[in-house]
Amino acid sequence: MTPTELKALVRTIPDFPKQGIQFRDITTLIGHGPGFSASVDWLAEQVEGSEAVAGMEARGFIFGAAVAARLGLPFLPIRKPGKLPCEVIGVDYELEYGMDRLELDPQSVSDGPSVAIVDDLLATGGTARAATKLLREAGATVTTAAFVIDLPDLGGSSRLLAENVAVRALMD
Ligand code: 5GP
Repeated sequence: MTPTELKALVRTIPDFPKQGIQFRDITTLIGHGPGFSASVDWLAEQVEGSEAVAGMEARGFIFGAAVAARLGLPFLPIRKPGKLPCEVIGVDYELEYGMDRLELDPQSVSDGPSVAIVDDLLATGGTARAATKLLREAGATVTTAAFVIDLPDLGGSSRLLAENVAVRALMD
């Protein structure tokens, strides 16, 4: 499938989760078998050569875990607070719609691998920067982040580049 065909599978929901926000909904993309598979193929090509894939809860799990499985790589879940049953490291960060926190099991990256970040959408870059910080704190090398959707007007890509993370996105 072409990027244009894949783009047509993303649904836009006006005023979600707040008035004035155009929410790009990937439910319709993952609900289309060939579309989901082609998106995972594309993401997997971008992060090939990495030693592990990290994804952020929750939609980053959908694509990140699928990409890791396709490449035969470990998947590192970066979770919302209070979900991991072990000692964690955490980071608070600013989101497009408020504040949030992410946590990681530092043991999951203790051998210092090169880890690629995968998520559904890049907006301000706050989430991916927080994930980068956590992974680096745990000893990982992070140089690549791959997204299904980039919202270029929100500047996430240049913010990640300033942290030496190259951004790949299937569609704008
Ligand atoms: P950022 O931290 O880059 O500002 O926002 C990106 C994060 O928020 C991603 O984890 C993404 O899942 C979520 N997000 C923000 N806006 C949207 C949207 O319009 N659609 C989807 N699917 N996710 C969004």
